[in-house]
Amino acid sequence: MISRIRGWIVRRIALGGFSKRRDVLYFAASRTVWTTLAAVVLNFGVYQIFGRLGLFGVVVPPDPVADTIVTGFVAGPISFLAYYIVGAAILDLAVSRNEYERLSRVDPLTGLMNRRAFVDVVSTIKQSYVLAVFDIDRFKAINDTYGHGAGDQVLIEVSHMLKDAFGSDNAVARLGGEEFGVVLQHPSKEETIAAIDRFREAMAKRRFTVDGVEITVTVSAGVSQGNGSFTYSMLLTSADKALYVAKASGRNRVVHVDEIAQIVTRNETGGDRIAS
Ligand code: GH3
Ligand code: MG
Ligand code: MG
Repeated sequence: MISRIRGWIVRRIALGGFSKRRDVLYFAASRTVWTTLAAVVLNFGVYQIFGRLGLFGVVVPPDPVADTIVTGFVAGPISFLAYYIVGAAILDLAVSRNEYERLSRVDPLTGLMNRRAFVDVVSTIKQSYVLAVFDIDRFKAINDTYGHGAGDQVLIEVSHMLKDAFGSDNAVARLGGEEFGVVLQHPSKEETIAAIDRFREAMAKRRFTVDGVEITVTVSAGVSQGNGSFTYSMLLTSADKALYVAKASGRNRVVHVDEIAQIVTRNETGGDRIAS
């Protein structure tokens, strides 16, 4: 019985059945009606049985109607109070649970989705999509030169820019540190790469004011594309490889996985210089 009640409470919390004070009042009032009715019936029945059998010296009340009314007035307020306290406790737990759930999915610095929420969202996408991993170039130098607070400010501004550029119908997340993930559901590879490259260019042109000093910040991006059968972790591994090549071949550039071989060959034959 106790475990069933506990299970019921946990389900109410999990399902968010109690989201407002009004839900608690409704819960307390409706349960009070049933509990009071049960109390009246039980009281009446016990008096009749015990009274007629002469058990424990109980006598059948002279006025069953008055007894019923008194029972209702006693049981009603007590059960309303008890149910209201239980309902309010469930509501408080549900509110804290929702807040905890929300916080566990949001990056506290930037307000973007965190990696966990991003993976959840991406896992529900059924059609093919493009995954872009952005990484701020030489970010450590920004921290070292202007301080961690200034670095945080840059992270926040970059997040806003990403959200403005891609956020309307795509998932944008801070994957960790100075790394961000964006999932685009554009059908065409060219269109997607163009959009990602436009963002890279806009970043490079933007002037960030840090400690009263204007600085520029660049990003590199690795891009991979699924065909519906690739898992998120496969796409992330490919995007990371492309990002590595983007970094190694000079930073401030976007590399699609399909370009990796070409860039590496160009490097080997003395074209671009791959540096770390
Ligand atoms: P690269 O161009 O190769 O990406 O160089 P990088 O300096 O950006 O990369 P590296 O991995 O060497 O340094 C990343 C830095 O990001 C180091 C770490 O202290 C900093 N960082 C990670 N998280 C935060 C944060 O929340 N706030 C700030 N200010 N810095 C952070
Ligand atoms: Mg970096
Ligand atoms: Mg990094």
